[in-house]
Amino acid sequence: MINTNNKIYDLIVIGGGSGGVRAARIAALHGAKVALCEKDRMGGTCVIRGCIPKKLLFYSAQFKGLFDIAANYGWKVKKPKYDLYKMVQNKNKELVRLENIYKSNAIKAGVEVLHGEASIDSKDCVKVNNKILKSKNIVIATGGEPIRLDVKGAEFTKNSDSIMQLKKLPKKLVIVGAGYIAIEFAFIFASLGTKVSLIVRKKILRGFDKDLVKLLIKNLEDNKVDLYINEHIDKISKKNRGYNVFLKNNKSQISVDEVLVAIGRQPNINNLGLDKINVKCDKKKAIIVNENLETNIKNIYAIGDVTNRVNLTPVAIAEGNALSDKLFGKNKNKKVELQNIGTAVFSSPPICSIGLTEFEAKKQYKKLNIYESKFNSLKYSIVKKKVSTYIKLLVNADNNLLIGAHMLGDDAPEIIQMVGVAINANATIDNFISTMAIHPTVSEELVTFKAPTRKYQ
Ligand code: NDP
Repeated sequence: MINTNNKIYDLIVIGGGSGGVRAARIAALHGAKVALCEKDRMGGTCVIRGCIPKKLLFYSAQFKGLFDIAANYGWKVKKPKYDLYKMVQNKNKELVRLENIYKSNAIKAGVEVLHGEASIDSKDCVKVNNKILKSKNIVIATGGEPIRLDVKGAEFTKNSDSIMQLKKLPKKLVIVGAGYIAIEFAFIFASLGTKVSLIVRKKILRGFDKDLVKLLIKNLEDNKVDLYINEHIDKISKKNRGYNVFLKNNKSQISVDEVLVAIGRQPNINNLGLDKINVKCDKKKAIIVNENLETNIKNIYAIGDVTNRVNLTPVAIAEGNALSDKLFGKNKNKKVELQNIGTAVFSSPPICSIGLTEFEAKKQYKKLNIYESKFNSLKYSIVKKKVSTYIKLLVNADNNLLIGAHMLGDDAPEIIQMVGVAINANATIDNFISTMAIHPTVSEELVTFKAPTRKYQ
């Protein structure tokens, strides 16, 4: 093994996803000598296999809602036909464009991009493509990977990556899981015309505000998604065409074209050589870091999903940014605030939350005011197929500060993003109520509350 270029890098980043690329770019812009190793496609989970392709498919599925109400708005539309293959091709083209942007932005910033599987060789050396590279600092940003289902026939299943490469729309689809991915794809495929069965081991969207989840379940049912609650898969067998999915509890079987497994993701530490230098991981294989993103080994850091803390792209990006600022910039004390992080599930319509749920708030605060509004927006006033909007604000009654916001409805993530700014700025409910409404909008409901719907004292 040779150190071919005899360079000593200031930073080697392993993993070219959102967090890794941000860390590498910022470090290089601060003047550091940086290499970034990526074994697959630049952009990582979010850009290539997750958020971005999923959101494009979400947009594709949203047309169904518009076709449903088009006639009420005066449009004569023939029965629309859907071409999944075309959609997947267009999506994939866009991913190539984004991948190139990620790569060229890193190179433009001065990052040396190396394609190949990298591993840690020693405390200051990384092995990639049979070369040993020396670096003063190493950042591990290898993200996560889908957890596989442990049942007979699991090899026949799709994950969130492969389901987005289908060429033909499945007529029937079983989805295992009830988290972000399972719910998003349940709505996407149901909107596109697939008969979806959702296998839920306990609860749908555990951890989300229960009023949001109640309405989301109604929307799943309205979309004719079959819900199997407290259910597990026993085995999956292949048929001539498609598969038979055998259920454990009700002993029945579902015949389907595809099975999607979305039961969570785990940190990707495979072949990283962490044991060589004893980088500490927890039971779930996550690299343990402190608030400065330091592992137990000096000058080795980890960011993003591989640390399994808050597995969201903006968090990985913020961590990569903060770390490189700290290592190479002037802002040495930058810490990533992991409180009040908004999160959205792109169901139809989407849900979005920030801050505490009502359940959590009740445990933390003695006096609590809940402001709620459930309504059919103007868009659905002249149509038969109504889709409700729901908004909930949680307020600490002692000081009127907003401590949580939850919404289900068209554009909920766009609206709650701005409520997040207000929460960050310590806004009170009075700030909301004294803001002049923009009319007619959905978001005006946020500033026209008259009184709390419920109070806890
Ligand atoms: P989640 O952790 O969100 O949900 C996993 C789901 O699978 C839960 O309902 C869980 O049930 C269930 N589950 C876990 N193990 C089993 C099992 N053995 N059998 C049956 N069900 C099981 O994982 P996802 O895969 O949906 O998403 C992974 C991560 O990706 C998310 O946590 C999120 O960080 C990120 N993501 C974010 C998105 C966004 O921001 N819009 C979109 C997609 C993904 P239980 O509740 O009982 O544990």
